[in-house]
Amino acid sequence: MSIGKNAAGFGTRAIHAGQRPDPTTGAIMTPVYMTSTYVQEEPAKTKGYDYSRTCNPTRTALEENLASLEGGRFGLSFSSGMGAINCLMNLLEAGDHVVACNDLYGGTYRLFKTLYEKFGVDFSLIDTSDLDKVQEAIRPDTKLVYLETPTNPLLRLSDIAAVAELCKERQGLVLAVDNTFATPYLQNPLELGADIVIHSVTKYLGGHSDVVGGALILDDEEMHDQLRHFQNTVGSTPGPMDCFLVLRGTKTLHVRMERHCQNAEKIAAWLSEHPKVAKVHYPGLPSHPQFELCQKQMKHAGGMVSLELEGGLAAGKDFVTRTMLFSLAESLGGVESLVDHPASMTHASIPREEREAAGLMDGLVRLSVGIEDLDDLIKDLEQALEDE
Ligand SMILES: *Cc1c(COP(=O)(O)O)cnc(C)c1O
Repeated sequence: MSIGKNAAGFGTRAIHAGQRPDPTTGAIMTPVYMTSTYVQEEPAKTKGYDYSRTCNPTRTALEENLASLEGGRFGLSFSSGMGAINCLMNLLEAGDHVVACNDLYGGTYRLFKTLYEKFGVDFSLIDTSDLDKVQEAIRPDTKLVYLETPTNPLLRLSDIAAVAELCKERQGLVLAVDNTFATPYLQNPLELGADIVIHSVTKYLGGHSDVVGGALILDDEEMHDQLRHFQNTVGSTPGPMDCFLVLRGTKTLHVRMERHCQNAEKIAAWLSEHPKVAKVHYPGLPSHPQFELCQKQMKHAGGMVSLELEGGLAAGKDFVTRTMLFSLAESLGGVESLVDHPASMTHASIPREEREAAGLMDGLVRLSVGIEDLDDLIKDLEQALEDE
């Protein structure tokens, strides 16, 4: 039973959607089907599964769960977020044009610029928080508009509903939204008019920094069939253990996100009062340029906070080595707090001029605020900001 969005609340769907007791044993948890192939009664007579690149029951449960959380009809899961984005890009042909935001996740930027550009796909990377710029950038050959909102690491927002309106004016123009930072608990792009949602489930959906995975969720059956074909053809599908871990993660997504957001809101407010902090980027602060859009589009402002220190690059690099509870590491969205220096870590593959043109300064520090006790997190930031 796949649970529809209107049939049950988010928390109930997070725990139950796509999952039913195992029919042979009654096991309440979906088994990890560690099998590559399935015995057939007679040639081509299967129980719905023939080979695990194509499909696997643990993966089916995860795909139904993720589809239900985003309120979509179809879910496809992948061995990484990049595998999911690559599958989406397989819809394009040489000569097609893509409009995307100019502070993309570094790996997505690399996929676009070092791979798809080589295959003849053309990209306009623009500030998609400015609707006029989106409208200007759309050309007759534009096939895809690609948004991240909030963006990584500057936490800029784009108005999904307004961009969806623009895209609907042109038949065949697909709007895809990378919803990794917001998660389906805070924001549902399909409901706002997007055609397809992307997730790196490595982050909040898995939530425990123990698995890498990705997903696509959509409503359109024809596009789903195409993507399913590419998923099986290219083969970046997840193993059953990975699917099991993500399924275990999504069961607590709503509870974890509440705490991530509470902690991040308090930390963003605290940082913005600190004399050594020059700037805080957090869409839940009234000083954020899209504060109002955040109130409208997201349930809460999320668990990511970025900051710039007085003292720029040297101060930023010093800070990230002095935090103790905030571990210096790439990635985000796990229960434990992490700190990242984007210019030398997650976003190093973007040339400096392009980074700076998009507002990503070398001194910027990104926090993935975990669900530890707030007092301990603040104490850690405080000692890291003290004079030596
Ligand atoms: C991490 C991330 C990706 C890529 O996902 P992987 O699981 O690392 O392949 C894509 N988009 C965003 C916003 C991310 O944070």
